[in-house]
Amino acid sequence: MCQRPASPTESDNGSKDSNETYVQIVTSGGRRIPAHANILASASTVLESLIDRPRKHRSSEKTIQILGVPCDAVEVFVGFLYSSKCTEEQMEKYGIHLLALSHVYLVPQLKSRCTKALIERLTIENVTDVLQLAKLCDAPDLYLKCMKLVSKSFKAVEETEGWKFLQNNDPFLELEILQFIDEAETRKKSCVKHMKEQSLYFQLSEAMECLEHICTDGCISVGPCDKEPSKNKAPCSKFSTCQGLQHSIQHFGSCKKRAKGGCVRCKRMWQLFKLHASICEAPESTCKVPLCSRFKAKGGEEMKNKKEKKEMVRWELLVKKVVLAKATSSILLPKRKRMEEEPTQSCGQTNDNHDYDIRNLVC
Ligand SMILES: [Zn+2]
Ligand SMILES: [Zn+2]
Ligand SMILES: [Zn+2]
Repeated sequence: MCQRPASPTESDNGSKDSNETYVQIVTSGGRRIPAHANILASASTVLESLIDRPRKHRSSEKTIQILGVPCDAVEVFVGFLYSSKCTEEQMEKYGIHLLALSHVYLVPQLKSRCTKALIERLTIENVTDVLQLAKLCDAPDLYLKCMKLVSKSFKAVEETEGWKFLQNNDPFLELEILQFIDEAETRKKSCVKHMKEQSLYFQLSEAMECLEHICTDGCISVGPCDKEPSKNKAPCSKFSTCQGLQHSIQHFGSCKKRAKGGCVRCKRMWQLFKLHASICEAPESTCKVPLCSRFKAKGGEEMKNKKEKKEMVRWELLVKKVVLAKATSSILLPKRKRMEEEPTQSCGQTNDNHDYDIRNLVC
């Protein structure tokens, strides 16, 4: 089974030349596996120290007991110490035993091979057993993979015999797993929240670009006040955003409810104009975006009360994040392109009417 050289004979034992010294490895089933002492010693420092320990009688043969795993697994282990190789079939059959042996006898090459093999073979059925072994054998990669699988398929894992055994025998590990699942849920939620927010800041940044473009160059249905809308009817590069904005601007210009403050759509458009003024760097007289100079002039006014001050802090944070999104989007063009192509998938936010509700954005 193993690829070590032909078994040494009994007469070789006790030879004075260390290169020719043999030891007998004794397994749980009483099998004796002869092996070269120098090979074992060079592959494992633990075996080396076992070989070097003094014997009771100089004449007695050197034996090392490797117990608690099947005899064939020990054969494969010894074979690996000779050749640094084992077959996929052997790994399939004895992977967990070889991991334990590689850990106990400090054979890192075999440990990493076993870790990879066991990760590839992880199933709902075996994950609890492998997890316990990974913890015992200090195999962090394997441990993490197991934890992730348990966390992902907890309902199914709960039904397995392995899980029931763990519950009865290792309540601390059970608690550790439940905590991991809990933390994973929290991480997932905060990641989704962050992604949604980031995506909204990117959308707002794009809306700001479109607003400037509509009010400076003019797009299909809306143009700057001193210019007719474009005669060129081809959609511009950000037409999906641009079109929604143009509708909102047209609505803003003709809404009857706006004056009384009763129109949500107008309030949102008003906030987009304000957001523009907050990030606009053009001199007042040159910017053609409506209300820009009016908001800029208002910006220096003193805050009257606590509520207004709080609002202002929230607003400034929003402005900062949109400015950052604008800078980031110009660096990460490919990513932005992806978001343009699949806005609802990447942000989980429907954006069909392009009414940007920025009131709830500041967090
Ligand atoms: Zn446009
Ligand atoms: Zn309105
Ligand atoms: Zn402006």
